[in-house]
Amino acid sequence: MWDNTKDRALRERAAEVIPGGMYGHQSTVMMPEDFPQFFTRAEGTRLTDADGNEYIDYMCGYGPNLLGYGHPDIARVVSEQQTRIDTSTGPSPLIVDLAEAMVGMVSHADWAMFCKNGADATMMALMIARAYRGKRKVLLARNAYHGSMPWNTPRPGGVVAEDRAHFIYFDYNDPQALTDAVKEAGDDLAGIFAAPFRHDTFTDQSMPDAEYARTARRLADEHDALLVVDDVRAGFRLSRDCSWETVGVRPDLSCWGKVLGNGQPISALMGNDRARAAAQKIFVTGSYWFSAVPMAAAIETLRLVRETDYLEHITKIGEQFRAGLDEQAESFGFGLRQTGPVTLPMVLFQDDPDFRLGYGFCRAAMKRGVYLSPYHNMFMNAAMTQKDLADTFEATGEAFEDLKRSRDSLKPSPVLVALMDA
Ligand SMILES: *Cc1c(COP(=O)(O)O)cnc(C)c1O
Repeated sequence: MWDNTKDRALRERAAEVIPGGMYGHQSTVMMPEDFPQFFTRAEGTRLTDADGNEYIDYMCGYGPNLLGYGHPDIARVVSEQQTRIDTSTGPSPLIVDLAEAMVGMVSHADWAMFCKNGADATMMALMIARAYRGKRKVLLARNAYHGSMPWNTPRPGGVVAEDRAHFIYFDYNDPQALTDAVKEAGDDLAGIFAAPFRHDTFTDQSMPDAEYARTARRLADEHDALLVVDDVRAGFRLSRDCSWETVGVRPDLSCWGKVLGNGQPISALMGNDRARAAAQKIFVTGSYWFSAVPMAAAIETLRLVRETDYLEHITKIGEQFRAGLDEQAESFGFGLRQTGPVTLPMVLFQDDPDFRLGYGFCRAAMKRGVYLSPYHNMFMNAAMTQKDLADTFEATGEAFEDLKRSRDSLKPSPVLVALMDA
């Protein structure tokens, strides 16, 4: 029987010593009531919470789990590397091996720099775009997530207007809006940031329109500015290359993170020769950016990306997941909106303006051992099996049934209502 006694006790302790009890994307404040906050085990496709409840995890650590938690090949290179050298006075030769491996796989790129978080990579892209020709204005798609620094964090706390002084926002996938934003930048355009596809929270996803992508490339060229693709979330779930290879457009810079070490902390900025001199001008670093263990994990992850059918596998599982949920929803009288790539599933309910159906459904599925998000895109991992899918559908079938029964008594999440009113 599902129980959360330990989780509740931990939350009480956390509230004393951690502001708000938890922070950032892993705080459960936005999740449906009772979602577990603390986990003690992650293995393959499964997560175990502090109370011992097990879940098939469709969030994959918000992205990093690409090949399965604790993948044996990666675990082996990690433990071997730990016995040699990790964080020290200089990098290990692995940084050269890793840069060569990445450059060999990412078509647009001639060089790589490594860091820890996706936000490090997007910050470096921003600085390099500005260092490139000494220009200031940077174009961002409205609501696209690029990290939690003062220039891009989605909430206003601690941010001053000057932090956002030189950003111009445009609507994703709209070539005219992009053209207008470029015009607004005048002769001060440093760069254009593009999300590989639209993956904003609480909204339907959309794949990149090829004309929009080509317009971004052309405008960057005409204005001698740099085009950036932020592949931190989508990387290696659409392609074994930069995600915009799927629309035939090559950026100058691409940002990588999340999956790169299959959970080991490492991210990367990749660039072409046009951006190389600018990359040499900026001073960026971090105490852990050169650590060897995550690099060993990344080299092994890249090998598995090249040599296994993980992408075909997660695509197939993703298609089955989408079709199965649609079929179940329909049979219980619900309509779903499933948008974007099947390897990054987004599941929203039709006629659900305050998300009470989505929240009710995910809560019911969670109590039956399936961890889904009602507002954020999810992630597929290569450890998923037909058995996992069958177990998932058993739980989601019951969750839909539960939802149908309780439909008239569901209430919107109070946190969400407060947020929507704000
Ligand atoms: C997660 C994410 C980031 C930030 O990465 P962190 O590792 O959390 O700093 C940047 N861009 C996109 C598209 C992301 O999904």
